[in-house]
Amino acid sequence: MESAISHILIVEDEPVTRMKLAGYFEQAGYRVSEAENGVEMRKILTRSEADLLLLDINLPGEDGLILTREVRSQSDEVGIILVTGRTDEIDRIIGLEMGADDYVTKPFNQRELLARVKNLLRRTQAVREARRSDARFRFADWTFDIPRRRLMSPDDERVELTRAEYELLAALVRHPGQVMSRDRLLDNVTHRSWEPNDRTIDVLVRRLRQKIEPDPKKPEFISTAHGEGYVFTAEVS
Ligand code: CA
Repeated sequence: MESAISHILIVEDEPVTRMKLAGYFEQAGYRVSEAENGVEMRKILTRSEADLLLLDINLPGEDGLILTREVRSQSDEVGIILVTGRTDEIDRIIGLEMGADDYVTKPFNQRELLARVKNLLRRTQAVREARRSDARFRFADWTFDIPRRRLMSPDDERVELTRAEYELLAALVRHPGQVMSRDRLLDNVTHRSWEPNDRTIDVLVRRLRQKIEPDPKKPEFISTAHGEGYVFTAEVS
């Protein structure tokens, strides 16, 4: 369901690796741009929006972590995959905390890399499309303005949500009364934790309940469908 050809930007200082990566993605039908460093990356991004960045962690000068933080602060819609070496574990975790969506480790398995890229593009695009088409929802005395990412409490106070909490709540509110499986909910959360597993959604639901439920122990809005997932049980208008 990718409507246009996605644009992938590769930021990598090693020419051989960069060309190899570019070759994979061109062959798979993507539009590919190449940058050697952060300066070139910015030049390309001012000319043309990227759908996904493949960012090498070990770049001379500004490294991939600094660039991740910078790119993420400007857009939460672009997908970011960090390219890491075997020994970069700490950096990898920091990178994910700074807003990268995923990482791949050198040497690459071409098939796996393509699958991850495709998967991330699908998720970011789904979120983007949903965001554009949605407006404001009300449930109980709450107001949730999806495009503006604003959740207002019955006392008219703004409740801060993390990106993952926001995306999860948006997915639930858009499908009131429907049981949403954990897999389906996970598809709507672009910023996965570095160990996406069955518990990711449960943890996010718990946090959301603490923020919105009058009594988080007896949830009225987000109910558990045992063995299946979660369902948004408040009336939405
Ligand atoms: Ca490098």
